[in-house]
Amino acid sequence: MEADTHLIHPHLPLDNTRRFIMDKGEGCLLWDTNGNDYLDATGGLWLAQIGHGRREIGEALSKQASRLEYFTSFWDFTNSSILKLIPTLLELVPSHITDFVFTSGGSESIEAAIKTARYYWYKKGQPEKNWILSRRNAYHGAAYGGGCASGFEADNFGLGPLVPHFRHLTPPHTYRSWLFDGQDPVDFCIAELEQSIEEIGEDNIAAFIGEPLLGVGGMVTPPEGYWPKLEAVLRRHNILLIQDEVVTGFGRTGSWFTCQRYGVQPDIITVAKGITSGYMPMGAAMMRKEIADTVREGIGFPVGYTYSGHPLAATAAAVNLSIIKDEGLVERANTIGDYLAAGLHAALDDLPVVGEVRHAGMAFGIELVKDKQTREPLEPQVAIADEILDEFHVVVRCTNPTIIVMSPPLILSEAQADRIVEAVSTVVGRFRPDGS
Ligand code: PLP
Repeated sequence: MEADTHLIHPHLPLDNTRRFIMDKGEGCLLWDTNGNDYLDATGGLWLAQIGHGRREIGEALSKQASRLEYFTSFWDFTNSSILKLIPTLLELVPSHITDFVFTSGGSESIEAAIKTARYYWYKKGQPEKNWILSRRNAYHGAAYGGGCASGFEADNFGLGPLVPHFRHLTPPHTYRSWLFDGQDPVDFCIAELEQSIEEIGEDNIAAFIGEPLLGVGGMVTPPEGYWPKLEAVLRRHNILLIQDEVVTGFGRTGSWFTCQRYGVQPDIITVAKGITSGYMPMGAAMMRKEIADTVREGIGFPVGYTYSGHPLAATAAAVNLSIIKDEGLVERANTIGDYLAAGLHAALDDLPVVGEVRHAGMAFGIELVKDKQTREPLEPQVAIADEILDEFHVVVRCTNPTIIVMSPPLILSEAQADRIVEAVSTVVGRFRPDGS
């Protein structure tokens, strides 16, 4: 525990001394150093598609580490592990996606995507086409470019000058109906996009970046028609579409990629998390051939990371993706997701502080409110996630400000889904609209 005082935890105040020291994982369960078990309803940080402690991955990593632990993918070097992964990825990704920049995680993937979009237009002779459109309550990582695309002001507070030429639009959070001035949410968002394009000028805008459903923003599922209409506007104005599938990629929402579920063809897709289920850090910016060829023509693409195409990460990804395929976990995200959603609806819908229960596959958001009529959010200080953890040993998180978000491993059993429903409904059922 003394060692932990040297560890800077993201988003944990200095005076918070509560700790859960996780030591072992198997399937959807975790054990701390005192032997207490916990049900992982967040899938680590929205990523443990195949669950914890899979021997197949441990064994493959051990073999690969003793064969070739690392070599660079810069210049004319590569390695056999990453080349084995590429055909597997090409089978799974939307068919218009052909080329990959590998990274160590989500934030690096977003940086690569934003730089790709800006550099693409530079190479096309339009260097002034460099604005990036995104949405409030979006999360695109903790680096500067992605941080500026993200739409949580608190994350950028105190950081000095930010990267210029980012504009944030309204997220399609339909439950928060006051965002749309009494209009249909899709019409409102599309009109706002058109107006921003007119103000900034289409010749100045490189790309629109968005998560297919806003994850950290509260697992906010978009209304019917939102993405296809938005994509049509971007195409008409020659603006690239980047979809950030760091959370939603690799089966989380019941299709390999969520852009397929919503019927759009992004020019660039960013991924991480589920690509290895967290067994090794890895991400990628994946793109269309014409974009990839444009940015590497001449001096080559000027963005590289030491760990791009890391052999151990590639090995973990290959085994993870074959487990997802062989065990039918993408389909399972739909069946077990619907089962858990039905349980949550039955137990929660009538509670006084529950405004909306929503899900796509195995991504869940439970919006808590002071008043079901006005939909005013419940106070942020309500410690619902802590109570669920303390009393039921079920790990969930609260976000923006009091939306319970969950993304359990796709291998969750029905009995474990029932345990989540019992834990969440018992604790949420105790809260009154005044937050008491
Ligand atoms: N994009 C999205 C949608 C995310 O949810 C996250 C992290 O949660 C990131 C990017 C950043 O990924 P990482 O934490 O791996 O850098």
